[in-house]
Amino acid sequence: MDQSWIKEYSHPLFIAGPCSAESEEQVLNVTRALKNQGINIIRAGIWKPRTRPNSFEGIGHAALPWLELAKKETGVKFAIEVANPSHVEQALKHNIDILWIGARSTVNPFTVQEIAESLKGITIPVLVKNPVNPDLALWIGAIERLLNQDIQKVGAIHRGFSSFGKQRYRNEPLWQIPVELKRHFPELPLICDPSHIGGRRDQIAPLSQKALDLNYDGLMIEVHPNPDKALSDAAQQVTPEAFAQIRQNLHVRRATS
Ligand code: PEP
Ligand code: MN
Repeated sequence: MDQSWIKEYSHPLFIAGPCSAESEEQVLNVTRALKNQGINIIRAGIWKPRTRPNSFEGIGHAALPWLELAKKETGVKFAIEVANPSHVEQALKHNIDILWIGARSTVNPFTVQEIAESLKGITIPVLVKNPVNPDLALWIGAIERLLNQDIQKVGAIHRGFSSFGKQRYRNEPLWQIPVELKRHFPELPLICDPSHIGGRRDQIAPLSQKALDLNYDGLMIEVHPNPDKALSDAAQQVTPEAFAQIRQNLHVRRATS
C-alpha cells in the first residue's frame, strides 16, 4: 500500500468545521473564519447518524450547494460523511473533496462494502472512522474493503470507542487500538478526532497534543461559530477563536517535510 498522499498536505493535517451544516450563513461564516487562519479542509455533516430518533438528523442534500458556494468563495476543500451509495453519488455530484465513513457505518460490513463498491477506483481521499465498539478487526476489514475496490487514497480516523455508563471521555480513546491498526497498515495515514473522543470542549487540547505526541498525521476538530447553539454535539464544539488558540498551543514535534 502506498499511502503517501498525506504528504501532499501540511503536517499536521487539520480538518475543522461544524458537526453539522446548519444554514448557508453558518457554513460561509465558519469557512471564512477558518480559511483566514490558514485551514484549507473544512468538515460539515450533511446526513447525521443520530443514536436516537427525533433529534436533528442533518439538512441532507439541500446543504450541499452551501458547501459548493463556500468552496467557490474561499478555495477550501470540503470533507463530509457518507453512509450509503446515494450519499456518495450526491457528494460527488457536488464536488466534495474528501469523504469519510462514520463510526456507526464501520461496524456494518454490508454497508462498508456497498459504499466501497460505489467508490471503486476513486482518487479522492476516503477516511474510515473506527467502529463504535473496540473491534480492531472491523476497522481493518473496512479499510481492506476500500483497498479491494482500488480506492487510491485511504486513511483512518480515531474517534474513540463507546462503553456503558459515565466515563471520563464520551468515547474511550483506547490508544492501543490505533497503534495495532498502524502495526497492520504501517503506511496508513492516521487522523485523531478529539472532539468525539472527549465530548467536551476542555478535552480537545490535551487529546490533540497526545495524538501529535503519538505521531498522528492530523486532527479533525469540530468548530462552530456559536457552539452553545449548535444543533448537534454542542458541548464539544469550539469557536474559531478557541480553535486558533488550541492550535497555537500545540507542540508539533515532527519536522515538516
Ligand atoms: C461526526 O463526525 O459528526 C460523527 C457523527 O462522528 P462519528 O461517526 O465518529 O460518531
Ligand atoms: Mn459530531
